[in-house]
Amino acid sequence: MSSIVYASQEGKLAETCSGAFAGLAAKSRGLLHTIRRNHALEHATVHLLARRAPTLHVVGRTVARGFYLYGDVDTQSLRQAAEEALTELGREPELAVHPRCGTNLAITALVAGLAAFVAGSTRGRSRLATLPRVLMASLWGVLLAQPLGHIVQRELTTDPNVAGGRIGEIRRTQSGKMTAHFVPISWE
Ligand SMILES: [Zn+2]
Repeated sequence: MSSIVYASQEGKLAETCSGAFAGLAAKSRGLLHTIRRNHALEHATVHLLARRAPTLHVVGRTVARGFYLYGDVDTQSLRQAAEEALTELGREPELAVHPRCGTNLAITALVAGLAAFVAGSTRGRSRLATLPRVLMASLWGVLLAQPLGHIVQRELTTDPNVAGGRIGEIRRTQSGKMTAHFVPISWE
């Protein structure tokens, strides 16, 4: 009798757990979706700002509530570019991908590191003897990582489908010579 009760409680527990996991998985999927769209908006905003000021140098950082932009940008121009990014991404989805994104750096480090590791793992040869091969492999790794970073950004870390997004009140902060903006984004 007690074993039946135990079994049914176990079943309930498993049900509750799988329910909680499903809820958690759905939440994290929702969070990832938000971050991918915010990331696309960050890149598109930087592209649009750079079209008007080609010498512009800014660094962006995407979070779940929007994105930060560090660099000397006028707040009004930033608002205009961010609003434009919302509509332009529908017409030009490639604006979601940026060549100087951290994704590319991470992929480059990973591929070049792996290539060097494989090239350097030869038995019976001195480390110095494998150095030219390791260097060549790293160089090829860096070259090959560029298109790969582009693909990873397009397929995994950004999403250009930004319909339903709304830009909130942009906050500007100044710390010494460093200007930072936070662009809040909300989703329907
Ligand atoms: Zn990026």
